[in-house]
Amino acid sequence: MKQKVTDRIRRNMPPAPAVATRTLAYASRHRAPPPPPKLLAAAVAVGARPRKRSPGRFAAAPLALVGRPSSSSSRLFAGSSLLSQMEVTSCHLVWEYCSIQFVLIVITAACCASLFNDDIHCCACGGPLLTEIQKRYWTGRGINSNKGLVEQLQNYGIMRSKKVAEVMDKLDRGLFVPEGTPAYVDSPMPIGYNATISAPHMHATCLELLENNLQPGMHALDIGSGTGYLTACFAMMVGPQGCAVGVEHIPELVADSVKNVQRSAAAPFLKEGALSLHVGDGRLGWPEHAPYDAIHVGAAAPEIPKALVDQLKPGGRMVIPVGNIFQDLKVVDKNSDGSISVHDETSVRYVPLTSRDAQLKGF
Ligand code: SAH
Repeated sequence: MKQKVTDRIRRNMPPAPAVATRTLAYASRHRAPPPPPKLLAAAVAVGARPRKRSPGRFAAAPLALVGRPSSSSSRLFAGSSLLSQMEVTSCHLVWEYCSIQFVLIVITAACCASLFNDDIHCCACGGPLLTEIQKRYWTGRGINSNKGLVEQLQNYGIMRSKKVAEVMDKLDRGLFVPEGTPAYVDSPMPIGYNATISAPHMHATCLELLENNLQPGMHALDIGSGTGYLTACFAMMVGPQGCAVGVEHIPELVADSVKNVQRSAAAPFLKEGALSLHVGDGRLGWPEHAPYDAIHVGAAAPEIPKALVDQLKPGGRMVIPVGNIFQDLKVVDKNSDGSISVHDETSVRYVPLTSRDAQLKGF
């Protein structure tokens, strides 16, 4: 190779950059005398850097410069008679492979992020996606108390209602998550059985959307009640004269949710019957306490279940995530004449509203 370069210089042709760089590296390694100026210039042109501490020695060119087909260095390569077409092609292939890998890594990272967060607020709720994610990430930082979490949600304008803040302040989220789970981070957390407890900002959002339908004495239904946290919030809002019903299809989660509520500020409602937690298929609702002023669905349905619309009171409101990969949080209002108005509130990511078997098998 060294011979080829020397021949080229002798013929007054600039050496091919890659070969020049490689020759330099070789010369550097073997403490050879300083190479001719043309060789140096060609190598420096493709990124070989003189080593400060060892004059005459060079660090090789960055790989990106060697392989990138669209870069000027690559065009030089392509025109060089010293670099075979095969080498050029393989450089291009390596570059293309790396680019595809990079794109795949970015897509996978985005998918993982969205799967971990059961809700992706973006344009729909006002701010750009990044700002919202940053907000939520920031919201979870360094918070180690329920009070701190509620204050952060308020400070960032995610929670505006005083009533909702009061209820979320009284109900310690730490009592509802499995041991060892960071309870006050604004993120959904796994609770077992392929289910999650929703992120605090999502609980706050749903409570605010339903606030007018969670007045004292009203009836509220929570489908996919999981940990029982939101059902307990409903009970605190509708009070002892009201009725808060949770329906969850994993019996073990229902048993755990009963224990969670018993430890919490909502325990008296469970004891006195204003709050009840049931094992059942939530797609069928819970006719026993229908019609409901408020229905919340904590899992994404492929479409709005008719049984739930039927169990909504005229003037009632249902908040339900709908969709598969792309989901919208829909707000369904039943008008006084029984007709339905629906609007999308925001883009979200929830676990599916499905059969117990499908969920236990991982959907
Ligand atoms: N809102 C709850 C849990 C949300 S995760 C909380 O924040 O704690 C969604 C829950 O819906 C899971 O617990 C899951 O088991 C339940 N689920 C899914 N499909 C269901 C169905 N068909 N009937 C009842 N519950 C269901």
